[in-house]
Amino acid sequence: MDHFLYRDGRLHAEDVDIAAIASDVGTPFYCYSTATFERHFTVFRDGLKGLDPLICYAVKANSNLAVLATLARLGAGADVVSEGEFRRALAAGIPGERIIFSGVGKTKAELAFALANDVRQINVESEPELDALSEVAVSMGVRAPVSFRVNPDVDAKTHEKISTGKAENKFGIAYEDAPRIYARAATMPGIDVVGIDMHIGSQLTDLEPFREAYTRMRELVERLEASGIAIPRLDIGGGLGVPYERTNEMPPLPTDYGTVVREVFAGWEDREFECEPGRLIAANAGILVAQVIYVKQAGERRFAILDAAMNDLIRPALYDAYHEIVPVIEPAPGTPTYEYDVVGPICESGDTFAKARKLPELKAGDLVAFRSAGAYGAVMSSEYNTRPPAPEVIVKRDEFALARPRLTYDDMLGRDEMPDWLNPE
Ligand SMILES: *Cc1c(COP(=O)(O)O)cnc(C)c1O
Repeated sequence: MDHFLYRDGRLHAEDVDIAAIASDVGTPFYCYSTATFERHFTVFRDGLKGLDPLICYAVKANSNLAVLATLARLGAGADVVSEGEFRRALAAGIPGERIIFSGVGKTKAELAFALANDVRQINVESEPELDALSEVAVSMGVRAPVSFRVNPDVDAKTHEKISTGKAENKFGIAYEDAPRIYARAATMPGIDVVGIDMHIGSQLTDLEPFREAYTRMRELVERLEASGIAIPRLDIGGGLGVPYERTNEMPPLPTDYGTVVREVFAGWEDREFECEPGRLIAANAGILVAQVIYVKQAGERRFAILDAAMNDLIRPALYDAYHEIVPVIEPAPGTPTYEYDVVGPICESGDTFAKARKLPELKAGDLVAFRSAGAYGAVMSSEYNTRPPAPEVIVKRDEFALARPRLTYDDMLGRDEMPDWLNPE
């Protein structure tokens, strides 16, 4: 459930008229709903009742400081994958003790930054990273709290570009190598082994891969503990999918996910659980609003050309992702629909949001909204074609605020520097 609904025939974010935001900030823009963020966080937390995990929101899904601060106030920690994200989490008021540092290629400088900022835990993904971390920790006179991300080699049955838990993926240490690497880590001077982590992919719409992975996690923890290595913390990752399309593909509810987790870890309720949801919290808490520039009829096809493009929302081009597109002014019941190819202005055929999408008649100047655009939307935007990326607006009840303004052309051009040999003087 989200808080983007028609009211008196006009799309609203909570109590704010989307068209009014468009007049104020221009199009395209992202719009987030505070109430929806709060609702998703609460529903997810309630789904895992009994295990009471620390919910470390995966910052990469949407790292706007206003979003992070909204979640921080609900008690969220953060899962970060770079020093930049670490800095964002800190700036939004999430203390280091609630930040997990993940990622397959953390540099020594990033590891040092994390240790200097009291990181809760570093999820180590390889032996070379373990060696580097131990070296950095020793040089700083501290011990690094380490969980290993173990690759359980299960098929998450999701899009290949967001599957991470198969042996062929670059993520984590191999399941068979885990006992040896844990034993080695336990003897290293700069390392404190605190836990284990698994994250098998994103947009999972089936619970069985989770059950399989967590069962393998439990078995491994039992083996490790039999060999004398305590594993107090269990980080069960993120990845639960969300409904992008109302008709088919209904992913499991957080309560059903929670049931699976509780079943697999029955009797372990006293342990410390952590999880890393991103998409589930953010996706349906945001929309991207765009304006129709032209409608063009080319032979049999009808193109709706928008002022938003793949530089604003790359998911359709990158993952063949489906986003529901709705007109901002509600069509009257029974309004006929036509098939549109909904595209952006960028010079790539990949700049296509939807093909043969059934929509009521569109005219130049009409506003449309892409639903479920709150995760992996604005964070993946770019300035391709020297287009200022869509700004971000956040709504709370009847108020809205610009959480990231649109760049000006001067901002964009002003960052380039001319080498001396091209300067006249
Ligand atoms: C991306 C990522 C997540 C979040 O995945 P979602 O599908 O957005 O829930 C969690 N943990 C790690 C390590 C990740 O890379």
